[in-house]
Amino acid sequence: MKITNYHTHTVYCDGKNTCEEMVLSAIDKNMSEIGFSVHSPLPFDTDWAIKEEELPKYKQELLALREKYKNQIKIYIGIEQDYFSANSTDDFDYVIGSVHHIYKNGEYLAIDLSADEVKNNIKKHYDGDALAYCEDYYKLVSDVYNRTKCQIIGHFDLVTKFNERMPLIETNNKRYQKAAQNAIKELLKSPAIFEINTGAISRGYRTTPYPADDLLDIIADSGKPFVINSDSHSVDSIDFGIAKMARELDMCGYKYIKSLDEIL
Ligand SMILES: [Zn+2]
Ligand SMILES: [Zn+2]
Repeated sequence: MKITNYHTHTVYCDGKNTCEEMVLSAIDKNMSEIGFSVHSPLPFDTDWAIKEEELPKYKQELLALREKYKNQIKIYIGIEQDYFSANSTDDFDYVIGSVHHIYKNGEYLAIDLSADEVKNNIKKHYDGDALAYCEDYYKLVSDVYNRTKCQIIGHFDLVTKFNERMPLIETNNKRYQKAAQNAIKELLKSPAIFEINTGAISRGYRTTPYPADDLLDIIADSGKPFVINSDSHSVDSIDFGIAKMARELDMCGYKYIKSLDEIL
């Protein structure tokens, strides 16, 4: 089985390893393709996204690595474009479109940094109504293709990241289901495909990938293929869970891409 991964972070944002270390790890694991997806520059100060002035260096470095390792692995130069980023993505091979914040009462509320922060934000900005928080999140997600013109929709239900450890969100509630399903319906109209993202499993937050099984089934019913990504931040997790997910999708008869060229 050929393993691929197109959701990869490095020291250019919040990853632990250099681009070359990630490429060498991918080659070592016999992967056929790897795509890099640096966190796009954000309109506020953060230590986990690239600065706009660093983007040319990021691209140059990856172009050099693409040439150096062209006989061993295919390298794609992408970006994980945040919903609130304003930079151009024209020069990238592909874009992952992701929502990492809700903008509420003049503040960017981080969805995925810590469970305590999420809990406090729901209390402070939503009077404790976690479902209203999710409704706002999915409103942005439903618009992520329009905003970023992405080829891949990143971690669709990221809002549930901490739910296994701290169950703040009733995902069986009708309001939650309606918000998530409406976003799926909107995004299915776009050419973008959904990723199955194993990143929160490798980092110990969850035991299952994004999106949750019930949402995944709805997406699969549309006939659109998935892409399986590890959202890796270090050499040890670059292929995490990908072969296993591919086997599971094969068993269900669900489609997934085997090369990024299928959607470019
Ligand atoms: Zn992300
Ligand atoms: Zn990511």
